[in-house]
Amino acid sequence: MQIIRTIQEMQAASVDLKRSGRRMALVPTMGALHEGHAALMRKAREQGAAVVVSVYVNPTQFGPLEDFKRYPRDLKADTRLCEREKADAVFAPSDDEMYPGGLQSTEFVEENVLARRLEGEQRPGHFRGVCTVVAKLFNIVQPDIALFGEKDYQQLKVVQRMVRDLRFPVEIIPVPTVREADGLALSSRNQRLSAAERPEATVLWKALGIARDLFEEGERNVHRLETAMSRAVELAPSARLDYAQIVDAESLEPVTDVQHGDR
Ligand code: AMP
Repeated sequence: MQIIRTIQEMQAASVDLKRSGRRMALVPTMGALHEGHAALMRKAREQGAAVVVSVYVNPTQFGPLEDFKRYPRDLKADTRLCEREKADAVFAPSDDEMYPGGLQSTEFVEENVLARRLEGEQRPGHFRGVCTVVAKLFNIVQPDIALFGEKDYQQLKVVQRMVRDLRFPVEIIPVPTVREADGLALSSRNQRLSAAERPEATVLWKALGIARDLFEEGERNVHRLETAMSRAVELAPSARLDYAQIVDAESLEPVTDVQHGDR
């Protein structure tokens, strides 16, 4: 497995990998890899693709008050996990490679419809940073497919929209959320939960289950379903809820009637 630091090397590796006749898959990550990331790599290999995992903590997607400095970083452990999953290459570029003009004077890529809602309202500029780094990675790695987790559902939808609108020749493949036995979605940031917060974090999964059960029992009123979720989350003493909203799975617009989705 190659460990690649520069764009030049990455582009040479990309040409080599494509010569093998396989499709090329990109798994974009910010490192501190876990079994959720491993599921993305496995899905890529199931497609018969050569797998490139990018590991880059992208500064432009963090707000000024967010945890960019404290975000967990461990490239050695990440490399071991990628090796175990038989990835073909890890691309771990520097900030200079990714932002040659510096962070202040970079061009940005922005999706302006889906990115405005939900997480976009809470974290202004977040999806602009995500779209910018994903567009750069697509240009550098030139993948045929790219895998994104449903854990970050809005991100998945924003990236799909950007790819559609900017005509990137990349197929986006969604991967279901991998969870701990108690329902908490695996996340690099879980490392930062205290011993008291960790069990409380399961309220997110419980809240989803409560809404699902009410729905199965026939409840279709959005307000009542949202309130049930909010109450469930607020049971955790250290939780502060930003939003619990039921939206259309494609447009991310609020809905008035809840219906079964495709799955
Ligand atoms: P991150 O390193 O957090 O930026 O995540 C990189 C990719 O892995 C994103 O597409 C995430 O949605 C995906 N991912 C992270 N955690 C999980 C998980 N628990 N299950 C599935 N995909 C995940």
